[in-house]
Amino acid sequence: MTVPVHIDQLLAKQQTISVEIMPPKSRAAEANLDALLQVFHYTQPSFVSVTYGAGGSTRERTAMLVNQLLAMESCTPMAHLTCIAHTKHDIEVILNEYRMAGLVNVLALLGDPPANEPEFESPKDFSSAIDLVRSAKAIGDFSLGVAMHPEGHPAARSQQQDRDHQAEKLAEADFGITQFFFDVGTYFSFIDDLHARGVHKPVIPGVVAPISTEQLSRLSSLSGASIPSWVADRLQVSEEEDAWKIGVAIATELVESLLANGAPGVHLYTMNNVAMTRELLRDVAMIQKGHYV
Ligand code: FAD
Repeated sequence: MTVPVHIDQLLAKQQTISVEIMPPKSRAAEANLDALLQVFHYTQPSFVSVTYGAGGSTRERTAMLVNQLLAMESCTPMAHLTCIAHTKHDIEVILNEYRMAGLVNVLALLGDPPANEPEFESPKDFSSAIDLVRSAKAIGDFSLGVAMHPEGHPAARSQQQDRDHQAEKLAEADFGITQFFFDVGTYFSFIDDLHARGVHKPVIPGVVAPISTEQLSRLSSLSGASIPSWVADRLQVSEEEDAWKIGVAIATELVESLLANGAPGVHLYTMNNVAMTRELLRDVAMIQKGHYV
């Protein structure tokens, strides 16, 4: 059995290139995921993170996929875990199962109430991701990531309070991963602000390759991330052109600028899109070798 890799230790040594995937919902989605894992087999991302459905809706499917990645050995997995819909006992069970399976990397999130459950009530054992980070520390030797929002969280009461909260959260965790953004300056001024608050843990920027204006508007309304007009303009392509290729070009330019300016790595939101991810990882590998122009 290989020794598990802790992401914070990896970040201390190198700029990481990580990817985020979602557990499949259907047979067709499973076949698509197999093709994506094949891409990872050849491109060897630093780690692969697996999302957790709102309100725990993918509890079993997330765990199954994480265990599949653990069995691949060549792959370092990270499980996302949201706590808004769980009791302390649920979280202890889930994290103990992961610990026994050999998983060491967890992205600790509060999460959102499930969109299709208007009557949803949280058990209120956790009021923020910080509570989950503290619980996880008591359960095992996890490398703990948290979600960072460079443009502020949509539910924040004020920017000041939001930044205080994010700084406190990052200080408790080992590293952060951001929501996607398109303005590199937004990310670096966010990092400067965290440093000014005395928090120097690594924050990996999240990068999305926008494949259509519709997809981008949906993602933006969920996350609060703004879409500059130059991104929308570039996606308004003629029918013969593949919009996703323009999305890959936008993402590649972001990655190049972020890595050149000292970001600790990049986290690529794959949306389980095989062709887009293959192309993006190929471009990122060229950047790392200094061959991208
Ligand atoms: P928290 O940091 O706990 O809080 C969110 C916001 O609430 C804060 O930024 C702040 O504005 C406010 N707040 C909370 N507590 C306080 C406090 N004590 N004082 C002041 N303000 C406070 N969602 C999923 O369902 N599944 C996933 O797999 C998933 N993966 C994600 C991965 C990344 C990299 C990112 C960036 C987000 C992800 N999300 C995921 C979305 C996330 O669940 C939502 O953004 C959710 O609304 C907040 O979760 P959080 O952990 O950021 O919350």
